[in-house]
This record gives sequence, C-alpha cells and structure tokens, in this order.
Amino acid sequence: MNLLEKSDLIKNHEITALENMEGYFKEIEKKNSSLNIFLETDIDKARESAEQVDNRIKNGEKVGKLAGLVIGVKSNINVEDFHITAASKTLENYQGSYNATVINRIIEEDGIIIGMTNMDEFAAGSSTETSYFGFTNNPAALGRIPGGSSGGSAAAIAAQLCDLSIGSDTGGSIRNPASHCGVLGFKPTYGVVSRQGLLDLAMSFDQIGPFAADAGGIALMLDTMAGFDERECTTINWEVPQFQSLVGEDALKSLKGMRLGIVKQFLEVSDDPIVNIIQESIDKMEEAGVEIVELSFDYIDLCLPTYYLINYVEFFSATRKYDGRKYGHRIEEVCGEEVLRRIHIGSYISQKEYSGKYYKKALQARSLIRKEITRLLKDVDSIVGPTVPKLPHKLGTTLEPMEMYAYDTLTVIANLAGIPAASIKAGEVNGIPVGLQFQAKPLEDAKIVQMMAAFEGL
Ligand code: GLN
Repeated sequence: MNLLEKSDLIKNHEITALENMEGYFKEIEKKNSSLNIFLETDIDKARESAEQVDNRIKNGEKVGKLAGLVIGVKSNINVEDFHITAASKTLENYQGSYNATVINRIIEEDGIIIGMTNMDEFAAGSSTETSYFGFTNNPAALGRIPGGSSGGSAAAIAAQLCDLSIGSDTGGSIRNPASHCGVLGFKPTYGVVSRQGLLDLAMSFDQIGPFAADAGGIALMLDTMAGFDERECTTINWEVPQFQSLVGEDALKSLKGMRLGIVKQFLEVSDDPIVNIIQESIDKMEEAGVEIVELSFDYIDLCLPTYYLINYVEFFSATRKYDGRKYGHRIEEVCGEEVLRRIHIGSYISQKEYSGKYYKKALQARSLIRKEITRLLKDVDSIVGPTVPKLPHKLGTTLEPMEMYAYDTLTVIANLAGIPAASIKAGEVNGIPVGLQFQAKPLEDAKIVQMMAAFEGL
C-alpha cells in the first residue's frame, strides 16, 4: 500500500488516525532505544490530534490532505512545546514557543506531529554522529551511519516509525541521509518552502524539505509546505503546481522524450560499485524512453571549498545569538568539535582584512558554479547521477574533516545554485542502499517529483 492509498483509507475511515498513530508509537517503543531516531515524542498530544481527526471524519466534515498521517520533525525546526535542541547541549533546555510556518501548514492539513528527530549538532555534519544525544543507527544498514545531518528523519522513514518526516538541507542534509537509508528525500528550489522557524546553519543555502517512502508522500508534503510566506522574505511568490496530480499512473509515460544529463565528473568522483548501480538505473530509464545527454562540469573541485567557506561565515554569524543570555548555554563553552571549528574559522575569515581574500572570492566562485550548472540544465530536463559518492561508513570509524566533507561533493552544487534536487533509492551494494539524485532548473521541482514517480514504476 502506498502513502496516497493509505491516506484515502484514513479519510474513508477504514483505518483510523488513532490506530495509525498508536501503531507507530508501538514501533517507536520497540525500536527507538537501539536506533536512537527520535529525541522526544509526545503520545498524549498525538492521541488528542488523532482523535480530533477521527471525529471529524466520522461526522462527515472535511479534513486536510495529511489527515491522520504521522510526521516526524528534525530538531532544528520550531514546534511549540517540544525541545528544539538542534541536537546541541547549547539548546538542551530550549522549548519551542511557536510553530514554524511549515509546522502550521502541516497542522492545518491535519498531519499528526509525533516528535523530534536526531541530527548532527546544528545540522553541521553528514553522519548524525555529532549529535549531543548520541549517534543514530542506520535501520537499512545496521552498524553504519544513517547519513546526515537529518539522519533521524531519514531513519524514521526507513524504520517505519512514521509516515512522513521533514528535515533541512544546506549542503545535502536531506538527500544524503535519504540516500544512505534508502528512502526519498527532496530539497526544493531555494525559496519554495518557508524557512521561517528553522534554526539557521547557513541561511543562503538552507531549505526545509520532506522525506517519504514513495513519491506520493513527497508530493503530498510539497503540496502542504510549498508556497509564499509573507513572514519570510526569501520565499518566492509563484503559482505552486499540484504535485500530487503528477504521481498517478501517467507518470511513467512522462519519461518518454525527456532529456537527462549525465555529468561525467559526477561519476568519476564516485566509487565504482555506486557508479554501477547508477548506470543500471540510467539504462532502465533509457529503455523507458528517455534520451541521455553527456555533459561536462569543470568546476567540481571548486564546489566543496566554496560551499564550506560560505557555510563557515554564515554559520558564525548565526551562532552569535547563542551567547548564553537568551538561549541556554554559551555555544563555544558546550559545543562539539565540528561546530567549534566552524565558529573559529568563520570568525577568522569574517574579519575585514580577510574577507576580500576568502569570502568575496567564494561568492565569486559560487556565482560561477551557479552559471555553469544553469547552462548545463538549459539543454536537459534533469541532471541525474549518484547522490553521494561513497557508501556510509561503520559507526565508530574516525574520519578527518575533509573525509567527512567529501560525502557532500555531489549535493552542495544544488545549494550553491539554489536549484531543486532529490534522492531516490537506486539499488544496493552488499545490502547498503545507494541513492540516485535528480537535479533540475529553478522552480522545476514538479519535474523531479514526476521523474521519481516514474522511476519507482520501472
Ligand atoms: N554536510 C554539510 C555540512 O556539514 C551539509 C549539512 C546540511 O545540509 N545541513 O555543512
């Protein structure tokens, strides 16, 4: 049963919202202590919302798109009364006093929020190992990292602890864990989903987006979350497509005649077993009628340094409010190694005398990368390739910072350019999931949803 079918069953009262929600709580009780996916849950609040939804359905009243579906939220998105810790000791006692715009939209559509998921501290990581509350185990490849930074939200879908979840993606934090956990994860075009209520990592990159087990779930969440927000000045005022209408039976037909770009450097930087899986996926799509176009992207080596430099500067500035006066502890006194590294380097390169040398150069490089990727996209409907160039490492392995950053080689490009990008499971290497990434032109998010729906049917 796919998610849209399940949603219909709830709306027709064949499954109750209460049964759905209680079923997930049972699973959480069974699995969460070993997997460490949810940092906090609230069964009473969830039960109350579920009962309300069921009563309205019983009385024949209209209910929202997400009626009775159970949703997990990354711990850096404000939800009233939950602990919004960003998995840091800095905010261990901070409770959300308001709902982020996306949370209000989920609640308006009758989604049931059950709790907050684990993540890398302040979303600065690719493995969920830097959480102050301990690592999350990958349910799809036990003993390995789930990816990050939204590792908990991806793992929650993989372990079937909720129907849908949300995360944030600054340099890959939705797509990377989606890839490692074998689920779908979607980073919208910058400005398509409101960031209001998200704790910033690097605000010129950050986007909120959904995780789901199928394209219907992604569509449902985008229909709920996308759209202009007058409270958030970076959101785009545009006519939002009906994502759900794109995932029906016709999706497969839509592949015919589509032009898909394959960037040779994306394959060159990826490990061989991953390239093989991706090649098989491309072959399948070719059989279904897509046209393959070979492309070359010459700035691949420029992407990580450009991304990290801008990330450090913006993150440093975002952390200045955590001085211990208003929110919890002073960040430098309690944070982990990676967060501290970013604050120190960010502070250093933010100084006037160095800004021209580093930061301004990075902004120039960013605009070069954006121009080049936009130029490549002009000629194709989408660029496809691996989401992550290597497999998730075993928990407990020590990595140098550069080795950790290398996980992001293929995901930061979409954030640098502001374009939509998503990951869907392509296959497995020795039982470990491998994700296929789709990237498209700005505001062509719908095309990606359509292609993922088609890919699922192959
Ligand atoms: N791993 C990248 C970083 O550490 C991306 C993080 C993210 O997307 N939140 O910056």
